[in-house]
Amino acid sequence: MFGLDGRVAVVTGGSRGIGRAVAQALARQGAQVVINYAASEAAAGEVAAAIQSAGGRADLARFDVADEAAVEKAFREIRDRYGRTDILVNNAGVAVDGLLLRVREPDLERMLSVNVKGAIWCARAATRTMMRARWGRIITMSSVVGEMGNVGQVAYSAAKAALVGMTKSLAREYASRSITVNAVAPGFIETDMTSSVPAERKDELMRVTPLGRFGTPDDVAAAVAFLASEEAGFITGEVLRVNGGLHM
Ligand code: NAP
Repeated sequence: MFGLDGRVAVVTGGSRGIGRAVAQALARQGAQVVINYAASEAAAGEVAAAIQSAGGRADLARFDVADEAAVEKAFREIRDRYGRTDILVNNAGVAVDGLLLRVREPDLERMLSVNVKGAIWCARAATRTMMRARWGRIITMSSVVGEMGNVGQVAYSAAKAALVGMTKSLAREYASRSITVNAVAPGFIETDMTSSVPAERKDELMRVTPLGRFGTPDDVAAAVAFLASEEAGFITGEVLRVNGGLHM
């Protein structure tokens, strides 16, 4: 069940954290994985090596998801090498936290460009071959804060909520081609992104998480692998929460 043999999957931001676990999970299910990264070349190489040493297939693609031309070029190269993209995981993201009065234009611009425009450029590039194949999976990383909001995350939560709207619109646009489009909304997951959250805030979050623990990248990766599978073919426009009950 949930096998992905013969599928070509692109995972943006696959060099670290959740993206790394997603790349490994999809490879374990048999997919040829293309690991995208923007800066962490050594880390991305380690992910590819780990997949290959476990008998999986992985390749690297360096591009900034916010750079429209670079995204187009990368997906053309993936098409030339593998024929198509079957599964796109829009995982690359950045978070620059700050109260409203401290929101600065360059940070807001970067957050919207990487988190929102990046997902749209990648979806547009990936759907070109999905349309021809009449099969596809697009899975985008939203967040619990896109639904709940959070003090100090005005811009980040706006971006993550925007991805839910994007997901539902794309789900409607591409349904007739058997391309499903879903979002995953993780709660607090221990990665580099959350490493600087103050201890008191973490304690507070732990108290209000019914399952009584933080999530792991593997918790999120399992949800992504399911949505990528053949068996999830009747699920589209959905937001799958992976948050230990923090928001329900
Ligand atoms: P992370 O550890 O900070 O990793 C971020 C990844 O995104 C890295 O692989 C990074 O690659 C890549 N990336 C950043 N900017 C990029 C760009 N412009 N182009 C291509 N890749 C880029 O973050 P994470 O915690 O794993 O988060 C992954 C996703 O889950 C994000 O969308 C995040 O918003 C979302 N999320 C996380 C949590 C959480 O609690 N951790 C909760 C909800 C949602 P380089 O290092 O190469 O730049």
